[in-house]
Amino acid sequence: MTTRFTFDCPHCQATTIVDEGMRDLLLEDGCILCETTVSMAAFDRTT
Ligand SMILES: [Zn+2]
Repeated sequence: MTTRFTFDCPHCQATTIVDEGMRDLLLEDGCILCETTVSMAAFDRTT
């Protein structure tokens, strides 16, 4: 089972479903669209 998260960028309108690996990349590199630094708060775990 893969844990999935809803990414909701606090800066632009980007919303996307990501897995844990993608989430870690976003936390490291920032939003794929606007390159804003994102924190854990931008992610909601999906069930
Ligand atoms: Zn963004």
